[in-house]
Amino acid sequence: MKTIRIGTSPLIASRLAYGCWRVAGSWNPAEVTTDSLSAGRLAIRAAYEAGYTLFDLADIYCRGRCEELFGETLREVSGMRERVLVATKCGIRRAGDPDAHAPQRWDFSGDYIVQACEASLRRMKIETIDLLMLHRPDYLADPHEIAGAFLQLHDAGKVRCFGVSNFRPSLVSALQAACPLPLVVNQVEISLAQRATFEDGTLDQCLEKNITPMAWSPLGGGSLGDGAKKLLSWQQGYRTDEIVKVLDAIAQARGVSRSVIAYAWLLKHPSRIQPIVGSNDPQRIREAVRATEIELTRDEWYRLLLAARGEPLP
Ligand code: NAP
Repeated sequence: MKTIRIGTSPLIASRLAYGCWRVAGSWNPAEVTTDSLSAGRLAIRAAYEAGYTLFDLADIYCRGRCEELFGETLREVSGMRERVLVATKCGIRRAGDPDAHAPQRWDFSGDYIVQACEASLRRMKIETIDLLMLHRPDYLADPHEIAGAFLQLHDAGKVRCFGVSNFRPSLVSALQAACPLPLVVNQVEISLAQRATFEDGTLDQCLEKNITPMAWSPLGGGSLGDGAKKLLSWQQGYRTDEIVKVLDAIAQARGVSRSVIAYAWLLKHPSRIQPIVGSNDPQRIREAVRATEIELTRDEWYRLLLAARGEPLP
């Protein structure tokens, strides 16, 4: 697989990342089974064998179960830890954490960032996280406090590089102004079905500051592929019929599947978007790599954009 440098960091990653959100087979730990964990383990191995070297996690994925499963797989596969980059996120707290009256919330307090990162290290049983991201912007985010936590984790050798997720550009700038360490990624939802980042300044800022945009739900949760298993609430409103028609036409002409063209559409952008493949299916995980060998023409790219917009450009 081709590689990409992550932002201004020394991290060199596969052009596609592999996302571990769904690897436990459910988002609810009570529904996780031995079979679903085995399938997740196979998916992680398939991604590694297909050349993916950046694995995306978060502490909240199946309440830590995905990090545990990923850590187990890392220990089972000889040499894997040395060859891959481990990315995870913190900052989302569910209701009842740590006590019954605590509300659902985002928490970027310095102590919590440090504590959450250390818990991720323990779950994965690793010494260092290559890339730690703040998951969703805390309304009470204090850039100086966050910078202090980042420096503490970095100086202790617990985290190599830092990034953010779902941040608007102005908050990226505010945090970067307070933080001596570079923010190297902004992980945001980007797909043909969700194009807000093309117009809200997110991708412009990535271009300007050399921040890598990591695209989550690159297939709109599956609705641009062969059907979604489980969608986030807002993804249920995506209208993809017209997009899929054009994806299929281009896919047929190029002899690949529609999902490959959907990834290739993201890869074409000059900000060097890194799509995060979220399938649990080894065959689909391998197939996605074909997107890195395709360069869509400008005409193909705009045909897809027009289908997604559903109206002409101004
Ligand atoms: P996605 O690629 O948009 O959706 C993956 C889903 O699509 C899977 O359930 C998959 O099912 C299904 N699918 C249907 N047809 C497919 C095809 N032809 N090829 C591939 N998949 C197909 O991505 P996502 O899982 O929603 O998100 C990807 C990653 O982004 C996550 O794993 C996570 O790491 C990250 N993420 C981050 C955030 C954030 O806030 N930062 C939020 C959400 C996700 P099968 O498994 O059966 O193939």
